[in-house]
Amino acid sequence: MATINNNYRKLAAGYLFPEIGRRTRIFQSENPHAKLLRLGIGNTTEALTPGIIDGLLRGVKKLSDVSTYTGYGDEQGNSALRKGLAEFYAKRGVTISPDDFFVSDGAKPDSGNIQSIFGYDNIVAVQDPAYPVYVDTNVIFGRSGEFNSATGKYSRFVYMKCTEENGFFPSVPKEKVDLIYLCSPNNPTGAVAAREQLKSFVDYALANKAVIIFDASYSEYIADPELPRSIYEIDGAEKCAIEINSFSKFAGFTGVRLGWTIVPEELSVEDSSPGEVRTMWFRRQTTFFNGASNIVQEGGLAVLSDAGLQECRELIGYYMQNASIIREGLESIGLKVYGGDNAPYLWLRTPGGLSSWEFFDKLLEETWVIGTPGSGFGPAGEGYFRLSAFGHRNDIQAAVENIIQRLTLDNQEKL
Ligand SMILES: *Cc1c(COP(=O)(O)O)cnc(C)c1O
Repeated sequence: MATINNNYRKLAAGYLFPEIGRRTRIFQSENPHAKLLRLGIGNTTEALTPGIIDGLLRGVKKLSDVSTYTGYGDEQGNSALRKGLAEFYAKRGVTISPDDFFVSDGAKPDSGNIQSIFGYDNIVAVQDPAYPVYVDTNVIFGRSGEFNSATGKYSRFVYMKCTEENGFFPSVPKEKVDLIYLCSPNNPTGAVAAREQLKSFVDYALANKAVIIFDASYSEYIADPELPRSIYEIDGAEKCAIEINSFSKFAGFTGVRLGWTIVPEELSVEDSSPGEVRTMWFRRQTTFFNGASNIVQEGGLAVLSDAGLQECRELIGYYMQNASIIREGLESIGLKVYGGDNAPYLWLRTPGGLSSWEFFDKLLEETWVIGTPGSGFGPAGEGYFRLSAFGHRNDIQAAVENIIQRLTLDNQEKL
């Protein structure tokens, strides 16, 4: 008699994006003339750059000739790519052995799968609001209690509140936790942790034998040279942190699929010896995964070349210009906007005390712009709203124009 994994039933309905879709479809059917402008999804929109297309084509070509053909590749990923990634970090003053890199098909699968190498009874701490994968994968694995719809929280999880007061980066938990998820630059708030803030978490993790799972998927969007792009810029992080990153937002690989995870050999937990956690991730990946596409890994090598990095900087510059346009437009009508300077997300305070969903409906009806209600990312996201800077320039401009001209704000509603 087969049964299901009952933890799936504990998941609060995957409500956010289906609900956005439902409300959008109703609005469009009632207003067929409305030209909808989608600033809701964190998905890249611009073409891959020429040097990277050449890299991908090189990968295809290699498969056409028996002398360069490859089948299954190196287990942790193409060794030239792992070496290239180690050099990429070295240029920033961070020394990581190529042996600590695990190439994958993206940061979402890695950030979801990594928890499987830790014990069931580990206490999980997440930023609130957060990218939903960290919570949901731990629910599926059985680390949560029940979901409480009144509080929007699962029991057993520790929610680290990110608010205007703390610059949307939390302080360390008061209680003892074991697995700490941090995302910087952050999706959804666009906030970036300062060096001292990351150091407080590294110190906490070392003192409590906790592990930080650091999602750096937006590291290349950091313009401020003072802000850390890798957790390993903090002393001691190699003993307590796993870093996950991706070519998705870096190079436009959202559909191409390529990422990496760093599990340092020095990392250890309560009941492991150094090296054992890295070996377990190797075991997990070689058991459940057979490597990223060899074609795509050639594309990754092209990204890491000098020319590729320059092209990606320009691509990121395009999205960040979008972010400036959105920020300036919203601020010009008196809205309070966060993020958007070192991350492709803008996090705005809903005006007039509207709930996140009320503002979603108002923005859609008045301006035809679709964004993402902050409450969908966690209870502390209530009263906030995310706009994404991923989009074609003319759509971004049209959206901002519509908002400036048509969004009704009473004077007393303005913040
Ligand atoms: C987009 C995103 C990812 C997904 O990355 P993939 O490499 O495309 O799987 C991971 N983490 C965060 C926070 C993201 O916003």
